[in-house]
Amino acid sequence: MEKKGAVLMEKYEVDKFLGQGAFAKVFRARNLETKKRVAIKVISREKVVKDGLVNQIKREITVMRMLKHPNIVQLYEVIPSRNKIYLVMEYAKGGELFRKILKGKLEEEVARNYFQQLITAVDFCHRRGVYHRDLKPENLLLDENGVLKVSDFGLSALAESKRQDGLLHTSCGTPCYTAPEVLCRKAYDGVKADIWSCGVILFALLAGELPFYDPNQTLMCRKICAAEYICPSWFPDEVKSLLSGILNPDPDKRILISEVMETCWSRDGLNYITTITEVELDADVGFDDRVNSENKELVDITSLSSGLDLSGLFKHCLVRIVSACSSSKLPTTV
Ligand code: ATP
Repeated sequence: MEKKGAVLMEKYEVDKFLGQGAFAKVFRARNLETKKRVAIKVISREKVVKDGLVNQIKREITVMRMLKHPNIVQLYEVIPSRNKIYLVMEYAKGGELFRKILKGKLEEEVARNYFQQLITAVDFCHRRGVYHRDLKPENLLLDENGVLKVSDFGLSALAESKRQDGLLHTSCGTPCYTAPEVLCRKAYDGVKADIWSCGVILFALLAGELPFYDPNQTLMCRKICAAEYICPSWFPDEVKSLLSGILNPDPDKRILISEVMETCWSRDGLNYITTITEVELDADVGFDDRVNSENKELVDITSLSSGLDLSGLFKHCLVRIVSACSSSKLPTTV
C-alpha cells in the first residue's frame, strides 16, 4: 500500500507520501470511484501495541467519528487489516498553517479569519465533550480554499476521562502552546487549556513568533506560568485585550470561549459563524447513532489485533513525553 500506484481495497490509489508522525505515515490517494483526493493515515498495528498506544488510536478514531464540522478534518472510513489500520480522511491540500507562519506574520484580516475558524471548531469540540489538548499551528491544516481544518486528535480527551473532580489529569501537548495549569501537572479543565493554546496560536499568527519562548525549557515554563509576554506594537488594542483575557495563568479567570466569540475583533465576519451553526445543527442529528456504531467498530478493530488481548492496555492513560522546544522562535512539533 505504501508505494505510489498501490491500491487499497480496490478503492483508493496512492499517489504521494505526505509525511510521517510518531506512529503513522500519511499518504495522499485518490478515490477511484469519485476521483476525490483523500489522505490515508497508515498505522502499524505492531508499533501501536508495542508502544502501548492502543488507547490513543482508539480515542483518535472515536473522536474523529464524532466530529463532523467544516473546520475539522473529516474521517471518511476506517479500514482495519491484519497488520495495519488505515484511516481514510479528508485531504487538506494547503498543508499546515505552521508553514505560513514560518514565512512571517500574517495580515490582521487573514489572522482574524483563521482564528475565527479555529475558535468555532474548538467550541464545536467542547460542546461534544472533546478536548483537543494539542492545538498548535502544525495541527491546523488548510484545504485548497484556505479553509482551516483542525487535525490530529491523537492526544484529545473525551469528557468521560474526567475524574470525580470533573477535571483531566494527564499532562500532554507541546510545551510552548500548553496552559500553565497543565505544565504544572495540576488537574485541569480541558476547555480552558484549549482556549489558552488558541491564544498562543493567535499571537503566533499576528506576530510570526511565539509569546513565550526560551531555549531553556524550565525558563520557558516559568514565563508561561507567569504569563510573561510582550505584544508587538502593531497589535491592535482589541487584540491585546483579547490576549490578556485568554493568556491569564489563572484558569478560573481566563476568558470563556463564548466571550471570545463576543469580542468585536473575533466577531467580525459573523456570516461565517452563522454558516457553521447551521452545519452544527445538522451534525446533532444521529449523534448517538454515530457513537454506537463507532463502539462496535472499535471492538472489531481491537479483535483483529493479532489475537492479543488488549483489554489491559485500554485501561492505561496516555502519557506523552514532551521534549524541549529546540529552535529559536517557532519550534516544530515535539
Ligand atoms: P504526530 O501525530 O506524531 O504528532 P504529525 O502531526 O506530524 O505528528 P500525522 O498527523 O501522522 O503526524 O501527519 C503526518 C504528516 O501528514 C504531517 O505533515 C501532516 O501535515 C500531514 N497530514 C496529516 N493529515 C493530513 C490531511 N488530512 N491532509 C493533508 N496532509 C495531512
